[in-house]
Amino acid sequence: MNHIPFNIPPYLGTEDKYIKQAIANRKICGDGEFTKKCNAKLEELTGAEKVLMTTSGTSALEMTSLLCNIQPGDEVIMPSYTFVSTANAFVLRGATIVFVDVRPDTMNIDEKLIEEAITDKTKAIVPVHYAGVGCEMDTICDIAKRHRIAVVEDAAQGVMGFYKGRALGSIGDFGCYSFHETKNYSMGEGGAVLVNREKDVDRAEVIREKGTNRSRFFRGQVDKYTWVDVGSSYLQSELNCAYLYGQIEDPHIINDDRLRSWNRYYERLAPLKDKGAIELPFIPEECTHNAHMFYIKTKDLEERTKLTAFLKEDGISAVFHYIPLHSSPAGVKFGRFSGEDKYTTKESERLLRLPMYYGLTESDIDIVVDRINRFYQ
Ligand SMILES: *Cc1c(COP(=O)(O)O)cnc(C)c1O
Repeated sequence: MNHIPFNIPPYLGTEDKYIKQAIANRKICGDGEFTKKCNAKLEELTGAEKVLMTTSGTSALEMTSLLCNIQPGDEVIMPSYTFVSTANAFVLRGATIVFVDVRPDTMNIDEKLIEEAITDKTKAIVPVHYAGVGCEMDTICDIAKRHRIAVVEDAAQGVMGFYKGRALGSIGDFGCYSFHETKNYSMGEGGAVLVNREKDVDRAEVIREKGTNRSRFFRGQVDKYTWVDVGSSYLQSELNCAYLYGQIEDPHIINDDRLRSWNRYYERLAPLKDKGAIELPFIPEECTHNAHMFYIKTKDLEERTKLTAFLKEDGISAVFHYIPLHSSPAGVKFGRFSGEDKYTTKESERLLRLPMYYGLTESDIDIVVDRINRFYQ
């Protein structure tokens, strides 16, 4: 039998050397050589005003919730088809989540439905760049500007993805990356906040450093450091950054490999799509994606369940995710759906993710494709 896992954490072989170097530096808490190298590399890649490494994508989102001054009773708009952390970060500060339907073509928030979800309590819009494919950011930023509300991009899946040539995460007020082991680039657990307005940089550093002005102290800007604001422990260890640096030093190694796999899946599954048996991902013209995910859409939930089992019988692990948040117990308690759930539930039940990771071989892709073809024969 085959054994094709859904994910293998990325490892290039450069990571060991940098971890050893971090240990030799005798500095393994945050903000040492490798934290700075990751910050600088990500700033260069994204053009963000400031990039700050964090302990996770979740903590990056929590930082932005503090940076947006979310208060109890405020409302935050986001899609329901997302990971729990997108919502939790704002619920932790007392916000009510207002879910908006997704576009069936990209599974991203439908920008045309955002405006009618805005009330005088709305404080932020959180577009999620699903599968590393950009949301319609020009429209979203224009709405936010007219209503004077913040835009926080959940770009957890979007590292090396672009919208009109601009890096995902660098377009709104803030962006959040994840470097969890299931993401394109990894440090085990980790993430980053992209701070895109200069006026927010100082406060972001304070919040990340437990509410102290320790960063300014280390730069010699104040002579002792103290508690100046709310904050928490969002700074990750040097060891994790050393692992990540091995991968983002030249981010094209992983990106090119994933794109090759994605394109092979697409080309080899195109005949099934043309026959109308399945649907394949859609990439809008404005977007450059990062091959974070390769998914297909089956006819319905029942067909997906059968196909998943058929693949599993042959040792192929394909998965789905995200029970739409508005129908989860916490989603019912902390949120409401604006308008009609025309696509979120229906489309999420049809979506199946195929194995996708750095180093996935052409022959394994062919085995997966052949098996899917057999299912539809
Ligand atoms: C992975 C992910 C997160 C959370 O990132 P962690 O690093 O696991 O905390 C948040 N939002 C989305 C859309 C994600 O895919």
